[in-house]
Amino acid sequence: MEILTDAQIAELTADELDRALDRLRALGSRIRAAEVKVLREVDRRQIPLGDGMRTLEDWVVGRMDVRPDTARRIAAVARADSADLDRMLVEGAVSFDRVSELAKAGSTDPRLDLDIVGLRSLLARQKEFGRAEDLDSYESRFLAMQPSLDESAWKLWGRLPALEGKIVANALEEVADELPEAPAGHRESRAVRRADALFLLCDRQQPDREPSGAAVPTTVIVDATGGPTHPKAWVVSGPRIGPATLERILCGSPIDVIARTSDGEPLGIGNASTAIPPKTRRYVLARDGGLCTVDGCGSSYRLQPHHIRERNSHGDNHHANLTSLCWYHHHVVIHGRGFRIDPGSPPYRRRLHPPDRSGSDPPD
Ligand SMILES: [Zn+2]
Ligand SMILES: [Zn+2]
Repeated sequence: MEILTDAQIAELTADELDRALDRLRALGSRIRAAEVKVLREVDRRQIPLGDGMRTLEDWVVGRMDVRPDTARRIAAVARADSADLDRMLVEGAVSFDRVSELAKAGSTDPRLDLDIVGLRSLLARQKEFGRAEDLDSYESRFLAMQPSLDESAWKLWGRLPALEGKIVANALEEVADELPEAPAGHRESRAVRRADALFLLCDRQQPDREPSGAAVPTTVIVDATGGPTHPKAWVVSGPRIGPATLERILCGSPIDVIARTSDGEPLGIGNASTAIPPKTRRYVLARDGGLCTVDGCGSSYRLQPHHIRERNSHGDNHHANLTSLCWYHHHVVIHGRGFRIDPGSPPYRRRLHPPDRSGSDPPD
């Protein structure tokens, strides 16, 4: 029995602990050896390519949920396809780290006189970044996007060549810098602002819905059992969304709402064409002087009318219920992070209420 219980471990002498560790390390090596053989077959059948991944490494990162450098080391051993390295792993005499360094070097000489750090720096000196490596770096570019199982979030990862990566990074940083300050007392990490910047760049590519107002209504299914303050909503044949996203859709686009019971029985179809009429929209933006009305903002970037009393709380499309917001305050602060406009604040110096995470509506 190679896996010991806590009680058994407590009984061991120092010598026995040492030997137990050796046995476990050998067991770990044998498991890695078995993984490597499976991955070699995966690589041979070009399964990563079929999954839209460029390389076995990328596939291993997603499939085995390991860091890219770990994936590289595992893939290197799989690809080395060396009986000697496989035997070393199965015998457990040499650690996986050492075997993977040897695989990268294209060697089966265990170099037992060098430790892992020494072996690695030796290889670094041997390796030069030539034309082939340069081209490989370009050819290994990819961007993977994976929705979570319930499609409530997306995970992105990828790899870009040196120059392209730098250009993308610079552009994201620049757009992130342009975003207005986060509301007082709410710090945003650089990573959060980069995510906003990436979405903003893509959102710019979207054709503006107004003033034609000819957008196709989004159909939203609302599960009526949640009650008016806790609606459960889905965009038809789309992702699962929560009340905050529903509110954003209600604010921005014409929608068809289909209410139904939890058993899926349709209860009725709500008003379609609930979009703000183009005339009202133009009036509101002009009335507010073409500027974001949040106190201290004054940005004019992609202004959008927002419902002060939200649609879920019976707010209507009357101009008195609408105020102009810049893209950042509308998309990120209000609909993204759940801040609300203080209805009592002056029309051109709107104050924001911090988010209420309980999901209930503000008191009438
Ligand atoms: Zn809005
Ligand atoms: Zn603003």
